[in-house]
Amino acid sequence: MAEAEWTAVDRYITDTLVHPDPALDAALRASEEAGLPAISVSANQGKLLQLMARMQGARNILEIGTLGGYSTIWLARALPRGGRLITLESEPKHAEVARANIAHAGLAGIVDLSLGRALDTLPVLEEEGAGPFDFVFIDADKPSNPDYFAWALRLSRPGTVIVVDNVVRAGAVADPDSSDISVRGVRELNALMAAEPRVTATAIQTVGSKGYDGFAVALVTE
Ligand code: SAM
Repeated sequence: MAEAEWTAVDRYITDTLVHPDPALDAALRASEEAGLPAISVSANQGKLLQLMARMQGARNILEIGTLGGYSTIWLARALPRGGRLITLESEPKHAEVARANIAHAGLAGIVDLSLGRALDTLPVLEEEGAGPFDFVFIDADKPSNPDYFAWALRLSRPGTVIVVDNVVRAGAVADPDSSDISVRGVRELNALMAAEPRVTATAIQTVGSKGYDGFAVALVTE
């Protein structure tokens, strides 16, 4: 029952406040047709990410976990002229679908998709002199969240915003004895953020068409 209500309210919010974007709708359709899992952010979450990136004045965005490029398109649309977005994806099929979706959205000249495991491609990015990034969105394999957070920090500057998706995991994050490696990844991430003097952070529980989950948001302060 709760899930049906959350979905209905998400639909209402999206219909009311999130203007239709044919490229985003096409990206979801193409992802579904290609058999990608339906684990992208929802439309209202995508718009929230876009608003956060705009509020922050982001010109240089890093995304870890592309899937079919749905959140990538939301975030790339936040960029001013001359802005860039780098997105990291390990699955060749996801990358292929995302590249087509990004091109269809007219963003191929703004977005670079790097194919490979993020923990392999992040050091390459650093060697190439990428960053500092103004905004980082972490949404890949959850057990690696602590490593991704460390990399986000390494590629940041004071003022960088780091957002991490799926940090509540239907409430399981509150269980200190959880054996779920994704829950453990999130708890370790939270411990790292709490202990890191260079960031101030919080997390918010969310419900909606994607179930019961949440976002963590960190601001790099020094
Ligand atoms: N951000 C996307 C959106 O909202 O549209 C959803 C991303 S989906 C939740 C997670 C993605 O991370 C999947 O496409 C998966 O293949 C990718 N992924 C998993 N492990 C990865 C890794 N080690 N390096 C890079 N990408 C990875």
